[in-house]
Amino acid sequence: MIDLHTHSTYSDGTDTPRELINFALSAGITTLALTDHDSIAGWEEAKQALRGELDLVLGAEISCLTEDGISVHMLGLLFDGTNVEMAQMLKETRDSRIPRMKKMIQLLNEEGIEITMEEVVRVASDGATVGRPHLADALVARGFIASRNEAFDGLLNNDSKFYVSHLAPTPEVAIAQIKAAGGVSVIAHPFASFRGATLDESSIESLVKAGLNGIEVNHRDQSENERSQLLEIARSMSLVVTGSSDYHGAGKLNSLGENSTDPRQWELLEAKADQRRVVKA
Ligand code: AMP
Ligand code: ZN
Ligand code: FE
Ligand code: FE
Repeated sequence: MIDLHTHSTYSDGTDTPRELINFALSAGITTLALTDHDSIAGWEEAKQALRGELDLVLGAEISCLTEDGISVHMLGLLFDGTNVEMAQMLKETRDSRIPRMKKMIQLLNEEGIEITMEEVVRVASDGATVGRPHLADALVARGFIASRNEAFDGLLNNDSKFYVSHLAPTPEVAIAQIKAAGGVSVIAHPFASFRGATLDESSIESLVKAGLNGIEVNHRDQSENERSQLLEIARSMSLVVTGSSDYHGAGKLNSLGENSTDPRQWELLEAKADQRRVVKA
């Protein structure tokens, strides 16, 4: 079973890369991608923990913003981890997440919700990309809300008055950078409409012109109808079709391997990288 989208404690997942590898082995995963938000900090631990028959695909889920302000998540897989421009792009996003978090905290404070940056940093693991799920965890620890889910249903959702965006490349820039670093790009959950505004078909076409390789069709945040529309788009634009869990450990309901990628589709995708970069034990 091939799962091409998971998170560890280096972003908002709750399993360390080592725990993730061990769990993947016991769950019968054969190919696992580690795709933390805007970070490759977990790659080294994942490589060291790798054993058995599991193939490891190193990647990142890159936060992007279109010129119209639509949030897009781009999975970059199999790129060169020593590429300096890629590292710089990811670092700029991670750095800008700090003032963004402080701004969200300030807006909450102004409404009488007492929470501090120190509390958010405390619930995030060392070296983690700081995001709204950590703010949610800090609010849970304080007893303001019961769960991350409750936070994303209200206080911290994209339409909330407490929402602040952070710096992010456009999806076209991210795709070009992934390609320049030798990797492949897959747009994550493109039609997950309940999260906020999504791209339309013509914007996806412009991403294909920029070099997009694949499209995540099977993902729990997309309805049957959204998946069939995406499948049609993938066919007409010759994109690789993927499915994945977007596993976050205890941070989300998503279970490892709940959606997976067809081996033939993975073969097509892997062949588009400039080198064989799948890591084997
Ligand atoms: P941010 O990147 O800081 O804007 O936070 C967005 C991240 O929060 C997404 O990438 C998801 O992984 C996570 N997220 C979204 N909805 C939920 C939810 N209902 N429960 C837990 N995590 C969520
Ligand atoms: Zn996440
Ligand atoms: Fe995402
Ligand atoms: Fe994700």
